Amino acid sequence: MEQPARNAQTRSSFQGPPALSDYDADALAAQFAGWGCKATHAARLLHAFYLGGGQVDLAALRLGKSVESHLGHDILLRQSHLITRSSSVDGTEKLLVGFGRGGAVESVLMPAHEPARAAGCISSQIGCAMRCDFCASTRGGLKRNLDAGEMVEQFLHLRHLAQSQNRRLSTIVLMGMGEPMHNLGNVMTAIRRIAAPGMGALGGRQITVSTVGIVPGMDELAAADLNVHLAVSLHAADDVTRSRIVPMNRRYDVGQIIAAARRFSEHTGRIVTIEYCLLKDVNDSDGQAQLLADLLQGFRTHVNLIPYNPIGVALSGAVYATPDASRIQAFYGILVGRGVVVHVRLPRGHDVNAACGQLRQSVRDDRSV
Ligand code: SF4
Repeated sequence: MEQPARNAQTRSSFQGPPALSDYDADALAAQFAGWGCKATHAARLLHAFYLGGGQVDLAALRLGKSVESHLGHDILLRQSHLITRSSSVDGTEKLLVGFGRGGAVESVLMPAHEPARAAGCISSQIGCAMRCDFCASTRGGLKRNLDAGEMVEQFLHLRHLAQSQNRRLSTIVLMGMGEPMHNLGNVMTAIRRIAAPGMGALGGRQITVSTVGIVPGMDELAAADLNVHLAVSLHAADDVTRSRIVPMNRRYDVGQIIAAARRFSEHTGRIVTIEYCLLKDVNDSDGQAQLLADLLQGFRTHVNLIPYNPIGVALSGAVYATPDASRIQAFYGILVGRGVVVHVRLPRGHDVNAACGQLRQSVRDDRSV
């Protein structure tokens, strides 16, 4: 049987049958042709599969007995399942999604500005190797990269959940567990499927890729012309502070990262988002706000200030705290006063372990995730 296009790096050791989410339109059409079935049936199946958030009524599609005999055997309808779902009082829904080839990741559905819409957050790896000190996802290290189909299925779980609540999943960000730039081939393949008309149909403009600042990946993503947005998790404007909380800064420093973000913006025309997690007495001083404003002068960005969501003792042994509201306001005020476009992003889902990696951490004692 012809196999779909996929990244051999993450699928090479997996011997089971592929799932629908592993296929691009051309690859599925070729597979159907190999079975002696119409290519148009492949397009109809993919359209219904993505439209229904991974749920598809085969009987209603009338694809014929030949196709139906292969589905579920030679091609799985799905390769993931929902392990748990936690609902926050603020409307955030956190999913723990398990995969047929092992492991689980967190995906999050968040309320958008309009009640009829929702925003999704998707993971790109199981665990993370980046060791950001304030993050729960990195505590067990990196388990493996997700392949493109596994990211697509997170999108479908979130779309299906949004649909069940009469909401539309209107934007997604690859900002969950993992560093997307370290799995960029699979990330870009997933984006193409999620954005493609006749498949996810979300559109590149509705998709954001987040990075801790992997410079070659930022340049590669820009060159790919996927029409997506970029978010950079900066968290500090000076190298001493940033290296303390984001060890990857020793590889790519603040100056290199901002230069790459500017190149991305110039190449794509996109305004880059700068993510800044505010940690009490670490990166929240007036001086650090001024440094951040200095760094971003002449660069059209959008800064998201994110008050820290506590995770207990950090990897380094530090116990970080959330700044007081007055400190957050002062930091915000300095940036605004310097002409920086900035928003304070309200922490979501505190009651459902919504900090990155916390849900998986909380159940891994009981399950193999
Ligand atoms: S913040 Fe992101 S890049 Fe850093 S350890 Fe957590 S998941 Fe990895």
